[in-house]
Amino acid sequence: MINESPLFSKALPIIEDIKKAGYEAYFVGGCVRDALLNKEINDVDIATSAFPAEVKAIFPKTIDVGIEHGTVMVLKNDETYEVTTFRTESTYQDFRRPDQVVFVRSLNEDLKRRDFTVNALAMTQDGEVIDFFDGVNDLKNGLIKAVGSPEERFFEDALRMMRGVRFVSQLNFIMDSETKKAIHIHHALLEKIAVERIQVEFIKLLLGEGRQKGLNLFVESELYLYCPGLAGYQKELVCFSTLRNSQNHKLMSSLSAWTLLLFALGKKEDEVNLFLRSWKCSKRMIQQVKIALKALTIRTKQPLDDLLLYQSGYEIIREVEELLTFLNKTADLSRLQKLNNQLPIKDKKEIAVTGFDLLAYFDAKPGKWLGEALDKIEVAIVLGEINNEKEAILSWLSTTDKVNI
Ligand code: ATP
Ligand code: MG
Repeated sequence: MINESPLFSKALPIIEDIKKAGYEAYFVGGCVRDALLNKEINDVDIATSAFPAEVKAIFPKTIDVGIEHGTVMVLKNDETYEVTTFRTESTYQDFRRPDQVVFVRSLNEDLKRRDFTVNALAMTQDGEVIDFFDGVNDLKNGLIKAVGSPEERFFEDALRMMRGVRFVSQLNFIMDSETKKAIHIHHALLEKIAVERIQVEFIKLLLGEGRQKGLNLFVESELYLYCPGLAGYQKELVCFSTLRNSQNHKLMSSLSAWTLLLFALGKKEDEVNLFLRSWKCSKRMIQQVKIALKALTIRTKQPLDDLLLYQSGYEIIREVEELLTFLNKTADLSRLQKLNNQLPIKDKKEIAVTGFDLLAYFDAKPGKWLGEALDKIEVAIVLGEINNEKEAILSWLSTTDKVNI
């Protein structure tokens, strides 16, 4: 059974080339899992018994992307493929990264070090699934179960606990009881893990279709206590997990996810910075969430208007409208479209006068008045009080008492 995805067929020549050179090569990990679930495949990972230098010798064009971990990027037919040597990870001393990666020739050894049975599957080029840990059965039963002893696996790498709850959400699965028990006992190990790595899993948890189940487990297991800014918010997190719209829609983007989360936690605009900085979010993301949270708060109380649309920007306000449906409010997408089409300007830069024009017109020195005047002009144009034309703006400024030089 090979999945219809062209990603597999495109990658087949890579596997064939490696096999021709006398080594083993398989599709592994998430792509095999998703193929068996009939889900869309994002990327394919290839694992091989060839050591990195051997992989490099097979293909004319390669890039060392993570050679110390055994990953070589192969370039073929204008595409790139990650090929990773079978490996084991040994002597974890700090509950995170392995101290040593050892390359091995055995597929079984490689699959044994993977986190969950559904992620420990391999597939041959003919579509035959290799399943040493009963992962196919767990896939059928919708079960997230650690490979081997869950306690040992979480001691090796505590991030796996977070990954477990994220897969519960992402795949809408349930967690095997032993695996769950081990997370309950060892949740505090998460403290050792870098926030950046936790964030990747947390966002995937928030975007999953089983968000409620994943979040409940996240709270119940107390993993949330070791995530930035969430201690003390147990009730709010549970409440957040229940937010859904009539279609039981998934949240569509990280921006939406952070915004709805912060809204549910009762955070104000001025708290966004600290919260998202502690999650190591980018400046751009923080900026966008601030705007979206403010707009969402306003939109829960009043209809959409030109100024809110203009100040938030179309892209952000569209996500905010979608979020309203999670709060039992109505999204007004047709009004949004109409207002957006009618908006006289979309950006400050489109104003028909500049600061220089005002300086010349009033024959005055720059000062606070200039910025204030430009702000007033901007609002008046957006609200349709004046046309965005130089003459109209200047006469509006002089006939009314708008300038305080
Ligand atoms: P996604 O579809 O979200 O990318 P994925 O299963 O591909 O899911 P990745 O994080 O891309 O997840 O990891 C690829 C594979 O590497 C996993 O399927 C799993 O086999 C293995 N893996 C990744 N992280 C770990 C970890 N911390 N411990 C053990 N195995 C891991
Ligand atoms: Mg992946």
